[in-house]
Amino acid sequence: MADSIFHKDFKAMPWWWEWWHPSNDLSQDPPKKTDVLVVGAGYGGLSTALELGRSGVDVTVLERGDFGVGASTRNGGGVSGGTTLGKGFSGKGVKSDPEEWKKVMARMLADAADSLAQVQTVIEREGIECHWRMSGRFSGAYTQRHYNEQAAKTGTYNDSAGLGTYMIPRERQREEIASDYYYGGMVVERTGQLHPALYYGGLLKAASRAGAKLCAQCDAEKIERKTGGFTVLTSKGPIEAKEVVIATNGYTTDLTPTLKRRLVPVASHIIATEELPEDLIQSLIPKNRVISDTKRVLCYYRQSPDNKRVIFGGRARFTQVPPEVSAPVLHRYMLDRWPQLKGTKVTHAWTGNVAFAFDFLPHMGQEQGMHYLMACNGSGVAMMSYLGYQTARKIAGGSNQPVNAFDGQEFPTMPGYSGNPWFLPLVGAWYRTRDWWDRHVA
Ligand SMILES: Cc1cc2nc3c(=O)[nH]c(=O)nc-3n(C[C@H](O)[C@H](O)[C@H](O)COP(=O)(O)OP(=O)(O)OC[C@H]3O[C@@H](n4cnc5c(N)ncnc54)[C@H](O)[C@@H]3O)c2cc1C
Repeated sequence: MADSIFHKDFKAMPWWWEWWHPSNDLSQDPPKKTDVLVVGAGYGGLSTALELGRSGVDVTVLERGDFGVGASTRNGGGVSGGTTLGKGFSGKGVKSDPEEWKKVMARMLADAADSLAQVQTVIEREGIECHWRMSGRFSGAYTQRHYNEQAAKTGTYNDSAGLGTYMIPRERQREEIASDYYYGGMVVERTGQLHPALYYGGLLKAASRAGAKLCAQCDAEKIERKTGGFTVLTSKGPIEAKEVVIATNGYTTDLTPTLKRRLVPVASHIIATEELPEDLIQSLIPKNRVISDTKRVLCYYRQSPDNKRVIFGGRARFTQVPPEVSAPVLHRYMLDRWPQLKGTKVTHAWTGNVAFAFDFLPHMGQEQGMHYLMACNGSGVAMMSYLGYQTARKIAGGSNQPVNAFDGQEFPTMPGYSGNPWFLPLVGAWYRTRDWWDRHVA
């Protein structure tokens, strides 16, 4: 590749796949009948299947590609316990009553904190070796105003969710990151990190061990409702199911048009650098935390689990673009923060879809008799795993009552929106302009 940022052995695929590659090893032919049919084998679908299987329920998971082709083996591996939730939380419908708004927010934060505990429980119980560590997050403030806004939220995070959150002023920033880029920032002790593809591979095996039937290369093409359940037409024949769970997140299609219109699929991009000298890589993030920031065009980054390279992600573009476009942008963002990495080559670059809701909240619930869990809003390692687990508990328990603060909340859409996010390039340009304005003018 001509561009000098690319390593001679550059690969356009997730660096994580060097450790665990999407595969069909555990795939089987789909059954003609199943009690619960889950569409989508990401963290959400597999967590649903794992818990249903453990409860003795007959469950089948369909994946239209190989297992692991979706976002769940492509992400940054930062495991958030809820601080990403507040972003854009509008409190629509309850904000007129501030006391009610505070209660809803507190319940959501507490449930988001539970999602972190749930991931840890599953990793330990199932013996998933995925470099899990609870080493915290540093969220860099892009402006002084952002720093003040972060500081105003720490009390709520600690009181509602026990996140161990505190502020680091700019003069102490180098305790967290070898950079002067930010105006200080917020530490969240109670957040984790893991190797996303190894976590995925472990979940897949655990679901299989629990008795779930796993069917790769099996596209759900049409869902027909009938008395007592559903017939799902797939690329490998029809399947009768009593219950259907939709867990397709950023890859939701016209299979479920009413859900598609509630989601905005947004691309997120990541690069992995070549291996760095030991003293250099150790100096960059002294406490080995995940780093994110308060920019509208967010960046998130960390050391690789083997502590040899930088994994650097962000919204280089809001749509899918090839690595020739995304990698140079991310490389430039990386040098903005760490000029000492000038000359560092990129060995891997990749992209994947996240799904945003119009209220920036995760959602689970029921629609036309089907269960759904979706809208990770860019942060779904813990949340989608948790909503899958909770959906399974709900089905196994035969309950219709909401099981958490996200369950059954209004899932808004926009008039005229059919699920085609034609406006994303405009939003990206607007966000970049607002970031520039906030830093240089406001
Ligand atoms: C680049 C990137 C970085 C990220 N970084 C982080 C991070 O650091 N921390 C964090 O918490 N989150 C992060 N995320 C988000 C996180 O990866 C997702 O929230 C999570 O993986 C979503 O899991 P899921 O099971 O809901 O969806 P997915 O893993 O996307 O799985 C959905 C699956 O449904 C399948 N499917 C769709 N339609 C059909 C059909 N009709 N029939 C059969 N199968 C179908 C798709 O093929 C896909 O495999 C990131 C995402 C990306 C893309």
